[in-house]
Amino acid sequence: MTVLVTGGAGYIGSHTVLYLKERGIDVVVIDNMKKGHRPAVLDVPMYTGDLADGSTLDEIFQKHDIDSVIHFAADSLVGESVEDPLRYYENNVNGTLQLFKKMLEHSVKKIVFSSTAAVYGEPKSIPIRESDPTFPANPYGETKLAIEKMLKWADQAYGLKSVCLRYFNAAGADPKGRIGEDHQPETHLIPIVLQAALGQRDHVAIYGEDYPTEDGSCVRDYIHVIDLAQAHYLALKKLDQTNESGIYNLGNGQGFSVKQVIEACRRVTDKDIKAIASPRRAGDPAVLIASSQKAEEELGWKPQYTSLDTIVEHAWQWHQNHPNGYNDKE
Ligand code: UDP
Repeated sequence: MTVLVTGGAGYIGSHTVLYLKERGIDVVVIDNMKKGHRPAVLDVPMYTGDLADGSTLDEIFQKHDIDSVIHFAADSLVGESVEDPLRYYENNVNGTLQLFKKMLEHSVKKIVFSSTAAVYGEPKSIPIRESDPTFPANPYGETKLAIEKMLKWADQAYGLKSVCLRYFNAAGADPKGRIGEDHQPETHLIPIVLQAALGQRDHVAIYGEDYPTEDGSCVRDYIHVIDLAQAHYLALKKLDQTNESGIYNLGNGQGFSVKQVIEACRRVTDKDIKAIASPRRAGDPAVLIASSQKAEEELGWKPQYTSLDTIVEHAWQWHQNHPNGYNDKE
């Protein structure tokens, strides 16, 4: 079995590629390398190209016996999507549409798709279940939901089977320290706090201390990137065994506030990390916590690294050894 991984040089993509390789699955990666990192992809055939340009996909489907696709390639910053929504529709929706067309042309009918908790918008109840209403609060979530819907209809019309995985807050790094998280610019909480621990930032801004939560800061569900990788592996197995489509949340089921995350980083790094109360960031719901019961029951998913301190330890190991990330960009 050979799996095509789009966006395999990105953060979650590269950890999933490593996880699959370690389980003896052949992988081919396509990435446009705008945000991806070449050193993050270890010992795997790698193609540089955009999904929208079908010629790279044609070449891959002709050269390799691709059985299924895991589709990570996308723009994924909420703020950026609000500023430039058409770019998000173009890269995410149009790129994906071309991928689906090429898959069908080459008779590949199984896909695992990276979706997001952002499809829910402001949640009506906590923990969030897959059956809860979806009202994205930004174009990023809107494009991911549009693709989920495209998949529903493509299943009905062409038998394109999919597993959509709605990630909560991906965090951590390869426990063996081989690869990790490197975004330019970094916007995610844990790497930002660790950059402050390394002295690369003066302080961490806490975006809002007046939310209706215990300590006033936002609560999120942080899930280890290797546990996300495990879910992709199980999703592929499920598609193979049952040929049935499904949608699953992937989270820890536990919420941690911004202040608790900063405390965990202080504990793990043993550094004083300055934190400064700052205005709210637009579009942040107060609390996002997943129910992942469905993934546990139907995929047999069992997150391994559920402690926040372990997640931070693995991220810290990477950041200490790679203070400038992969350092592979101009
Ligand atoms: N956050 C913060 N300061 C930062 C970055 C993030 O207070 O410098 C908060 C953000 O408002 C959110 C949480 O940390 O409540 C997680 O944000 P992140 O961008 O990591 O993930 P998101 O929840 O947006 O997917």
